[in-house]
Amino acid sequence: MPLRIHFLNVGAGDSTIVDFPARTKGVESFNARIMMIDINSCPDNGYTDVIEYFKAKFSQKSIFRFVCTHPHKDHITGINELFNKSGISINNFWDVKNEFYPEDWENDPSPEDWEMYEKIKNGKISGLTVRNYTSETNPVQCWNEDEIQILSPSSELITYAHTKQDGTKRSGEAVCLNEISSVLLMKVNARKIVFAADAEGKAWEEIISKKRKEIENVHILKASHHGRESGFNEEAVKIMNPEYILFSNSTDADKNHGAEKLYKKAAPKAQILKTSIYGNLIAEISYSATIATKWTND
Ligand SMILES: [Zn+2]
Repeated sequence: MPLRIHFLNVGAGDSTIVDFPARTKGVESFNARIMMIDINSCPDNGYTDVIEYFKAKFSQKSIFRFVCTHPHKDHITGINELFNKSGISINNFWDVKNEFYPEDWENDPSPEDWEMYEKIKNGKISGLTVRNYTSETNPVQCWNEDEIQILSPSSELITYAHTKQDGTKRSGEAVCLNEISSVLLMKVNARKIVFAADAEGKAWEEIISKKRKEIENVHILKASHHGRESGFNEEAVKIMNPEYILFSNSTDADKNHGAEKLYKKAAPKAQILKTSIYGNLIAEISYSATIATKWTND
């Protein structure tokens, strides 16, 4: 069975579902499990209803691991419905330690979604385990099984994002939240996938200096910050040298996602795929390196 990654068409935001099949490696056998990275469910704006999609594709299955890369609006919209009303059971919640809170509700999460995020963060949802991992955390068994590595943030970067130039503390919207969004590397045997969240300059600098080898020659790069220029780092893209670059972006053309030209220049061989053009994009990646990845959309 191949592994499937569903990059959902959620506009300029993220929601990705990774469907790990039951599999064997040598004498070991690993369970099937599902990971969801972020949610931006805005069906009223014409985008995919993440919860309906999940129920249609995965019916009664649970989400083993929900990764909240960072609690900006475009990464947690629908979290209240998912955790409170959907009936979908969720076991683990990965959260980046942060002191962000919304100050201007217009561009920030809805009060319901924010309230749910805070409840989760503060351990108020029974049966849900909250994990505050950094790139220094020693992986636990299930990450090893799923071949996941946390590239960023480090605890040092978290401190940096919470400190002003004069040394005083940042909180609320002054926290550099994109800089500490969770960047994950996942391997499907030899093939690497980088989920870059909304990583910006400092995060890429750190990844290049500490994890250069790990990010060499990537199969799929989910472009940082929905393809915006602020998430583009030329050196990192050149090192990653991706075969595919995925933009999880909105239909508002390239107004805010104009880094396509920069990506093309830094990675001329790469094929750029956009959810705004293809809709929900599904990559079917075989554990056998000789079988090519198959892309479908719906
Ligand atoms: Zn974002």
